[in-house]
Amino acid sequence: MTRAHSPTEVHAALEAADPREVFPEIAVVSLPMVTRFRGITVREAMLLRGPAGWAEFSPFIEYDTAEAARWLLAAVEFAWAEPPEPLRPRVPVNGTIPACPPGQVAEVAARYGDVSTFKIKIAEQGAASLAEDLRRIEALRRARPDAAVRLDANGRYAPEEAMRALQAFSRFELQYVEQPVAAVEDLARIREAADAAGLGIRIAADESIRKAEDPYRVAELGAADVIVVKVQPLGGVIRAREVVTGCGLPAVVSSALDTSVGLSAGAALAAALPVTDRVAEIFGGAPACGLGTSALFAADISAAPVRAEHGSVPVGRAAPDPAQLSRLRAAPSRVRWWMHRLQQCWKHLRTESSPRPRPE
Ligand SMILES: [Mg+2]
Repeated sequence: MTRAHSPTEVHAALEAADPREVFPEIAVVSLPMVTRFRGITVREAMLLRGPAGWAEFSPFIEYDTAEAARWLLAAVEFAWAEPPEPLRPRVPVNGTIPACPPGQVAEVAARYGDVSTFKIKIAEQGAASLAEDLRRIEALRRARPDAAVRLDANGRYAPEEAMRALQAFSRFELQYVEQPVAAVEDLARIREAADAAGLGIRIAADESIRKAEDPYRVAELGAADVIVVKVQPLGGVIRAREVVTGCGLPAVVSSALDTSVGLSAGAALAAALPVTDRVAEIFGGAPACGLGTSALFAADISAAPVRAEHGSVPVGRAAPDPAQLSRLRAAPSRVRWWMHRLQQCWKHLRTESSPRPRPE
């Protein structure tokens, strides 16, 4: 039986000069992906066991030390502290329709079983994909007339293209359009213009939320109706919940291509967020979260992967299975690379004057 630690003790964990003093087990895994996603075919992740359980440290390879260090803070927290009490035992998840030909939409949607919310990736070529995007939305509407639909542009519209696209989308009933433009100031302008034009389209911020200060800026500028939050970039479940509460906007929890261990931290955050009146108004209950991504992996480190069943994932810690850990262990040179990164990020967290940035 492990003992839960308080956030203050989590902070104390960083007093150790070497992370190996506080994590008795550290593993690096390399998970094969079903299809190329985010330009990669294998996903590497470091898993660390602390007094409260296993945690994931998996910043993308290209991230620098300062950015990756926030992800490590999240791992330290999850390995040392119990997450907040869950308000529900399961978290609904959404299916994702990639930029596939409209004729394939029904088949892709069917792979997600009975999820009741879909996210359609749009704007692959900016405004040039608009006609095809509309056909894919129509195809999903025909295949799943009862499902809730949200769109994700990944910031790909130029500001002058975004309004035309939103006008075209306004004939559908949508939960929201995620990050139509990249810059948060542009997002605020687009949202205001869409409101003024009476389009009735809600805007969500995803790429604009990459660190703990960002949601406050999005809220201050009135740039979004909904924020998409991820545990690792925000520095942990407890911090992310504080950020969501502090900025006062409905939040959809998403993963960053995490293994089941990281997904279980995402589910812990999602399960700890209350269904406010505003959340109920938009989502009709707890929002479907982007935590169904284990389906993108051809293998999982857990014997009981965090995988969607009947449209939701269970809440509870996931632990790697020893046999899976050895089968999926990364090559020695990659393990050395991750150990070096761990040391660099650890040093960064220890030397930062305040490892818990708290915006005004
Ligand atoms: Mg997104």
